Amino acid sequence: MEIIRNIIGTIGAIILTFNTHTLTYTDKRVEEEKKSDIYQEYKISSDTSLEKLAPKKSSASTGSTTSWWSYPSDIKNCTRDGDDLLVLVNKEYKLPKTYAPSDLVSASLSGIRKGENFTLRKITIEDLKSLVKDAKSDGIDLSMRSAYRSYNTQISTYNYWLSANGGSVSATDKVSARAGHSQHQLGTAIDFSSSEIADGLGGTFSGTKASKWLATNAWKYGFVISYPQGYESTTGYSYESWHYRYIGKTYAQEMTNSGMILEMYLRSKN
Ligand SMILES: [Zn+2]
Repeated sequence: MEIIRNIIGTIGAIILTFNTHTLTYTDKRVEEEKKSDIYQEYKISSDTSLEKLAPKKSSASTGSTTSWWSYPSDIKNCTRDGDDLLVLVNKEYKLPKTYAPSDLVSASLSGIRKGENFTLRKITIEDLKSLVKDAKSDGIDLSMRSAYRSYNTQISTYNYWLSANGGSVSATDKVSARAGHSQHQLGTAIDFSSSEIADGLGGTFSGTKASKWLATNAWKYGFVISYPQGYESTTGYSYESWHYRYIGKTYAQEMTNSGMILEMYLRSKN
């Protein structure tokens, strides 16, 4: 069954990879899914305490035996404002449904390929511009697969993966955040890709020169990997070599010096 889910997930990823109009697609999809049972179930859950989807036991941080990808039963509101670069957004802490950054601009201002399809907070642009330029000087091509996503877009994104995973909540929770729990709602998270993998999204990115370049250099520009390999039980997500979040150069330097991954660094600040 797990193998079948993986295959279905892979097919879903391939479909998404070749779909350059993901937002249009998911908007249409959400209209369809508003009528479906899955959407209704998720909608009801997202509007209440998520009890229907979340386990009854408390989070892994309290030492329980809950699976690493599970949500805790007691979901809290973020302790910092959404505009704060150090706000901790994870499975335990969620952003308000109403939160949206006020300074979103076209990601194309950074010069990244396919940036015209996405928006980012203005505060990220200058550093991203330098990152893209310096990567290019090193012979590295970078493109963008996702950036800001609203609370409502995240509902359709989660539902897309839920559907792609054959309705398996556990498989979906490993790879996609429920609405309010996504760093993409901050307008400071980026999913990168590269011409090396035909601008595809997902696991194949880890084998690219672009991925290695980012892993080594992104922090110098204020961008850090959110879900590193080997820390799944800490972050609650599978390894995402393509997903970076901007926390600014000063904090990224501090985090790198500390040796902490982003999740632990932000927990120490929240
Ligand atoms: Zn992402």
